[in-house]
Amino acid sequence: MNILVSWSSGLDSTYMIYKALSEGHNVLASYTMLANNSEKSMVESQQVNRLSKLFERDFPKTYKGVIKENIFHMNQKNSLIFKQIPIWITSLLYTINSDIDEVYIGIVLYDDTNAFKKEIRKIWKSYQSIISYKLPKLRFPIHKMDKVQFTRILPKEYLQNVFYCEHPIIVDKTDKENIIYKPCHKCTVCRDYDYYPLVVGLEMNTEEVKKELIEIESQH
Ligand SMILES: [Zn+2]
Repeated sequence: MNILVSWSSGLDSTYMIYKALSEGHNVLASYTMLANNSEKSMVESQQVNRLSKLFERDFPKTYKGVIKENIFHMNQKNSLIFKQIPIWITSLLYTINSDIDEVYIGIVLYDDTNAFKKEIRKIWKSYQSIISYKLPKLRFPIHKMDKVQFTRILPKEYLQNVFYCEHPIIVDKTDKENIIYKPCHKCTVCRDYDYYPLVVGLEMNTEEVKKELIEIESQH
């Protein structure tokens, strides 16, 4: 099957690609850049390239690369409850072609959006009337799984390259191919990850993470 995956370079969607490739599917990834969060997109784009190279190496026949052309400039003053959903859907719609059989979105077990899968499918299906070929089926293949499971299955090299912070701190960007950054440990995504000691990327600096967490907590 030919699958298009909505990819952020985060743990969930990276695992989703790995899973589809491991099952023998052809996978094309779609990465959407949010231009107003420039530091995040700078690091994210780098990690997408690094992870993409791993997929190319491990699944040379079935990994079909990543489309990175969809760029959004978001108006932050919107009133959407799930801001990412319209972005993902629009981006996927601009990337699909008649060869794609299924489209994957990485909603996981404890995501708030999990309760709205039916509505999201309805929105997706509504586009059939303005598409000239059969709209691929929208699937949520990891909606009954959680991050801990992904960290157990995804090989270490991938885990070390997944990206998760909303406001990364750029330490050094002199080498554009090798931007050094560290997670902020303050955003909601970081808070999630900091409590998942299994995430191998954090294993390397667990002591540092602990210290920073104590610091943050003492400020409240
Ligand atoms: Zn963060």
